[in-house]
Amino acid sequence: MKKINYKIICFVTFFIVLLLGASLIPKNQYIPYIDFYEKVNKNNIDTIFYNDSDKIKFKEKNNNTIFITDNPRTENFKKEMLMKNINFKEQINVGNRLSAFFSIILIGGIIFIIYKKTRKSTIAIKQFDAKDSGNIYFEDIAGNEEAKENAKDIVDFLKHPEKYEKLKAKTPKGIIFYGQPGTGKTMLAKAIASEANVPFYSVCGSDFVEMYVGVGASRVRSLFKKARENKKAVIFIDEIDAIGKKRSTSLQNSNEEREQTLNALLTEMSGFSKDETIVVIAATNRLDILDDALVRAGRFDRHIEIGLPDKVAREKILNLLLKDKKTENLDIKDIAKKTIYFSGAMLDCLINEASIIAIKNNCDKITTEHIDKAYLKIIAGDEKKDKSFLTLEDKKICAIHEAGHAIVTKVLNVANITKISIIPTIKGAGGFCLNIFEDKMFKNKTDLENQIASLYGGRCAEEIIFGKENITTGAYNDIEKATNLILDYIGKYGMFDNNILNNNILKDKENIIAQCNILSNLLYEKAKNILLNNKETLEKLANQLLEKETLDEKNIYNILKNCI
Ligand code: ADP
Repeated sequence: MKKINYKIICFVTFFIVLLLGASLIPKNQYIPYIDFYEKVNKNNIDTIFYNDSDKIKFKEKNNNTIFITDNPRTENFKKEMLMKNINFKEQINVGNRLSAFFSIILIGGIIFIIYKKTRKSTIAIKQFDAKDSGNIYFEDIAGNEEAKENAKDIVDFLKHPEKYEKLKAKTPKGIIFYGQPGTGKTMLAKAIASEANVPFYSVCGSDFVEMYVGVGASRVRSLFKKARENKKAVIFIDEIDAIGKKRSTSLQNSNEEREQTLNALLTEMSGFSKDETIVVIAATNRLDILDDALVRAGRFDRHIEIGLPDKVAREKILNLLLKDKKTENLDIKDIAKKTIYFSGAMLDCLINEASIIAIKNNCDKITTEHIDKAYLKIIAGDEKKDKSFLTLEDKKICAIHEAGHAIVTKVLNVANITKISIIPTIKGAGGFCLNIFEDKMFKNKTDLENQIASLYGGRCAEEIIFGKENITTGAYNDIEKATNLILDYIGKYGMFDNNILNNNILKDKENIIAQCNILSNLLYEKAKNILLNNKETLEKLANQLLEKETLDEKNIYNILKNCI
């Protein structure tokens, strides 16, 4: 319908201009100026119709025909004619004005049509068609049992809405999956659609974000219209925060387009009829930043956390990922243990990387060695192939630094050290000391303190061996991590002295900085004392590193066994 309107507007404008243009073309007979002038001299001219264009009109005596001739544009033309007793009528050049007026209309019309057409085509490009849910079922998702249990309720509602209707039960309309990236939110949404055997519409919040006010809202309407055609559907909106972030209270910062889009989404969700069983699932990494209007009862009121997998879940995910792959003597339990804080997507990446390494090495099976290499690649990045730029001095600094970390980590029992390397990586690390932390839900005060001290281990070792004046930039990443931990210790967890308050809420910066300084100095001294007590081992470990470049768990603990 809209298409026809635009065409009509275009054609009507065009024809009006054409007709008017045509009507404005002078149809009068042209007479050269010289002949006109002769007529003037012969006193044959009755009236001259003068205007400022390049042509003027005139009428002869006893002849009603209007002729035109060239406008001489001389200064005393009027005076001269009047002196010859010729009527001189000055006219406004309507033709010129009209043609200017219509030209403006024509250009304006064309610009308007082009603007409308381009807007329309951008919207048209974003057609929301049902996507393949990728044949993903609940059995393909490992771990996250609570989330799956919740998801099963949604499937039941999609399959048998009449059951819920009978009891007038409030059915889930909007569900939010929240959790870190790569934890399987999209997978779970797809599995819901597959299990319920309904079409799956997947969009990203940023698909709605547009420069033009109203475009996002019309996209929302078009998405819901498409989904409604099926009566039953799952709509998945990834990264909902792109449109659903808390709205600004200040008028200055309000984003009209985003607000219109969000309102359109909320309106569409409230408008499902009884015979439509449509579930909208939104995904976000952070629930706390979403607008209250979005998460309130009756809208996205079911919030399901999809967390990072624990050890058992990681084992299950690894088994799933390795199901169709040839492997040799892989200790899946051990890989699951090592991959603490890995999301499902990272585990997927690990196995894929290991497969690539196996192929590169002409192996038809994935071995522990391939997994270890892939693991290091993900954790620390690829090793730098060109090491020629490294001086012996660099290597010494790196060896002392990493040995310092290792000793404090071992003495304070912070984590299990599985590898130390002084080979720089392309991620920018000079070397690394790979720690595997224990999988536990809560960290206590001592755990945090020890972790901070072990982060300071590298800098302390540099100070002890090379002197305070020669400490290097190598500790920048450790200091950043330590600062964040100290801030959480004081600000979030209320663990410093008797300060059982959330300093982040108090926003007392001065006080926080003072407390941070006290704590960091305390923990730095703790690390330093440990290293001073084990100076001999520190040098021994560093020398071994200089010699071998990387040390594995067995070698490390052999050297560190006598640490105190
Ligand atoms: P998100 O939407 O949370 O960012 P995805 O659903 O896109 O994460 O997951 C990315 C990939 O990670 C999946 O394609 C899958 O290979 C893997 N994955 C994540 N979680 C799981 C899980 N629980 N079980 C199996 N594979 C998983």
